[in-house]
Amino acid sequence: MPKPNPRHPNYPIPSGPVLRAKGWRQEGLLRLLENVLSVGEDPDNLIVYAALGKAARNWAAHRAIVKALSEMEEDQTLVIQSGKPVGLLKTHAKAPLVIMANCNIVGQWAKAEVFYELQRKGLICWGGLTAGAWQYIGSQGVIQGTYEIFMRIAEKRFGGSLAGRFILTAGLGGMGGAQPLAGRMAGAAILCVDIDPARAAARKAVGYLEHIAPDLDTALAMIDAAVKEKRATSIGLVGNAAEVYPEIARRGIVPDIVTDQTSAHDLVYGYVPKGMSLDQVKGLRDDGQGQLMVASRASIVEHVSAMLEFQKRGSEVFDNGNLIRTQAREGGVADAFDIPIFTEAYLRPLFARAIGPFRWMALSGEESDIARIDDLVLEMFPDNSIVTNWIRLARENIPFEGLPARIAWLGHGERTALALAVNTLVAAGELKGPIAFSRDHLDAGAMAHPNIMTERMKDGSDAIADWPLLDAMLLCSSMADLVVVHSGGGGYAGYMTSCGVTLVADGTDGGAERLEHALTNDTSLGVIRYADAGYDESFDEIKRKGIGHIAPG
Ligand code: NAD
Repeated sequence: MPKPNPRHPNYPIPSGPVLRAKGWRQEGLLRLLENVLSVGEDPDNLIVYAALGKAARNWAAHRAIVKALSEMEEDQTLVIQSGKPVGLLKTHAKAPLVIMANCNIVGQWAKAEVFYELQRKGLICWGGLTAGAWQYIGSQGVIQGTYEIFMRIAEKRFGGSLAGRFILTAGLGGMGGAQPLAGRMAGAAILCVDIDPARAAARKAVGYLEHIAPDLDTALAMIDAAVKEKRATSIGLVGNAAEVYPEIARRGIVPDIVTDQTSAHDLVYGYVPKGMSLDQVKGLRDDGQGQLMVASRASIVEHVSAMLEFQKRGSEVFDNGNLIRTQAREGGVADAFDIPIFTEAYLRPLFARAIGPFRWMALSGEESDIARIDDLVLEMFPDNSIVTNWIRLARENIPFEGLPARIAWLGHGERTALALAVNTLVAAGELKGPIAFSRDHLDAGAMAHPNIMTERMKDGSDAIADWPLLDAMLLCSSMADLVVVHSGGGGYAGYMTSCGVTLVADGTDGGAERLEHALTNDTSLGVIRYADAGYDESFDEIKRKGIGHIAPG
C-alpha cells in the first residue's frame, strides 16, 4: 500500500511488499520514478527540481514508461530518449533494465534558445541531474555536500566552528532547500532569501527551515540575536535576492559566508528578475522569453555585484553550482569569476579519491531499513570520521521526504562493501525490502561541467566530456540496472554532460554481482579521471587500493 503524501496528496509514496512488476529490479525502478514525483516541486507538470528538471517528457511518455516497467522481463532493456520510452528490446538478464540519453544536443546547437524551441515542439526534455534518471530524493540529495562545504570553510576561516557565524544565501527550491538545514547542522545562523512564499512554506513544513521572518529588518534582528548567542538557526525571508543582497551590503553588514542557490542557470524558467511578480514571470515564459532573459541577467548582475562587494569586505563567498557567475559575466561583470566554485575551492581532494555523494533508498518505504543501514555504516567505517559524524548528525536532524533515503560521501571500495553488506541483509530478511543504490551525477568520473565540477582542472581538461560517456559505457558493461547520460537543458544547454547509475540490491547473487562490478568500476573510473589530470590524491588511492590504472609512457 502506498503511504499518504501530505505535500502532494495525489502522489502517494510507494511502499509495501506487493510487487506490480515482474521482479524487484523492475519494481524498484518503478518506485523510484514514483518517488521523484512524490518529492518533486511541481509533479502535475512532471517537474522535479532545478526549474525544469523533469521525470518524463510528458504524461503519455510517463504512462508508457510505467507500463513497460510493469510488464518487462528481466532479459529486456527499456530504451528512453529525453524522457520518452522508444523501445523495449530483448537483451539478457545481466544487461541494464533501463538505458537513457536525456537532452544531449549536438555541440554548436546546444544553446538555451534551441533547447526551448525543441521543448516547445515536444522533442526533448531536460532531466536535471537526478530528475530524469529517477534518482532524486528531495532536498537531502545535496545536504551533505552543502554541510561539508560549510565545515571546510569553518576549518579554513573560523577555527573549525560556525557557531556565532552568519551565512547569507538565497533559493529555497528543491536543492536550495537543503541550505537552511545544512547551515543549522553546521552550527551557523543562516538567512535564506526566496522570492516564492510557497517554497519557503514547503521547506518549513518539511522541517528543513525553522522560521520565516516577515521582513528584512526582523530577519536581520533574528540573525543578529542568534549570532550573539552563538545559537544555530535558520531564517527564511520572502524577497528577491537581487534586492536583498545589495540592501544588506548598503547597510554595511558583512555576513561571514555568502552564496546563492536560486535557479540562476535558467534566465527564463528559473531566475525571477527583481521588480516582477511570480505571475508576471509565468506569463512571459511562453512568449516573452527574450524580455525575461534580459531582465533576469540584469538582476543577476546586481546580485553578483553585491556578492563581490561582500567578498571585498571579507566574506567567504562561493558559487554553489548554479551558473550565476557565468550569467553575470555575460551581463558584463568582468570579475564575476573572482568568486570561486565550491568544487574546486572545498571538495576537489575528496573527488580526486572518488569520495562523493552516494545514496540509498528503502524501496519498502520503511524508515527502519534506513536506521538499520545507518547502524551498519557506523559499524563498517568506524575510522571514517566524515561519514560517522555525518550519519550521527543526519539521523538526528534530517526528516525523510518520500521513500526513506540516506546520503553519505563514500569512496572507492567503501560503496561496494556497504552495498554488498546491505544485499546480504536483504537476503537474510533483516530489512523490510530491497534497497536501491545511486549517486549524484556530480561525482568524480561522472560529470564534465567546466563552470562547476571540472572548473580549473590541474591539466586544463575541464571541457572534455569523454569521462561521463566512458562511465556510462563502463556501467553498462558492469551490469548496472539503470544507466543514463544527461546533458544540460535550458540555461545549462552546452555547459555539461553527466552520467548516472542506479542499482537494486534485491538480495540475490545476481544483485551482488551487479553491485560489485558496477560500483567498483564507477569509482575506479573516478579515481582514474583525476589521476589522468595529475592529482596526487588519486595516485595515492590507486596505489593503496590497487585500481587498474594505465599511464602510458
Ligand atoms: P528550484 O527551481 O527548485 O528552486 C530555485 C528557487 O530559487 C525557487 O524557489 C525560486 O523561487 C528561487 N528564486 C528564483 N529567482 C530568485 C530571486 N531572484 N531571488 C530569490 N529567489 C529566487 O531549483 P533547485 O533545485 O533548488 O536548484 C537551484 C540551483 O542549484 C539550480 O541552478 C541547480 O542547477 C543548482 N544545483 C546545484 C547543486 C550542487 O551540487 N551544488 C545541486 C543541485 C542543484
